[in-house]
Amino acid sequence: MKAPELLQRLIRFNTVNPPGNEGEALEFLKGMLDDAGWQTELLAKVPERPNLVARLKGAEPGPNLALISHVDTVPAKPEEWTHDPWSGDLEDGYIWGRGALDMKDQVASETAACLALAESGWRPAKGDLLLVVAADEETGAHFGAQWLCAEQADEVRCDWVVNEGAGKSSTSMTGASSPWPSVKRVRSGSRWSPTGSQVTDRFPGSETTPS
Ligand SMILES: [Zn+2]
Repeated sequence: MKAPELLQRLIRFNTVNPPGNEGEALEFLKGMLDDAGWQTELLAKVPERPNLVARLKGAEPGPNLALISHVDTVPAKPEEWTHDPWSGDLEDGYIWGRGALDMKDQVASETAACLALAESGWRPAKGDLLLVVAADEETGAHFGAQWLCAEQADEVRCDWVVNEGAGKSSTSMTGASSPWPSVKRVRSGSRWSPTGSQVTDRFPGSETTPS
């Protein structure tokens, strides 16, 4: 499945946090990754708040790269929107919905890339490629990344992380201070363009301060 359709499908899972209800969206991703040859597991502090950890093993040991994201969103008031926040409507080249820019777009893009790589037969030469899609980023990560790092460290340990936000050092998953080679992203909107251009007009978005 390509990224635009994946994004539409993800938006249609209402994962407003609280309460999150991330399970169905993550089961959906897990099924596709399983079929493509990824090793996947759902790790959960409580059953209704799982996290997806998917791994494509390298041929030899080496540094692991993790693509990390989250599938929960902040709330949306439908009366403030021109489109249903959970429609995933594609109109005039834009996909609409809560989470379209924070951060189901990146979940969709990374998952689509991971599916295409595995289906092509590609495997890392050295080190593993991890795709970690977490729950509960928007209200503190107590069921998500924080819990994964504290209680499931062996499952998510990596040397490099690509995440949302600006580049900075991270020690939570690598265990040592290391560059965080993420791309700075500018967001304040509620729609996403499959052409890749970021939309930063002032629709109700979850990033209140475009940087
Ligand atoms: Zn986010």
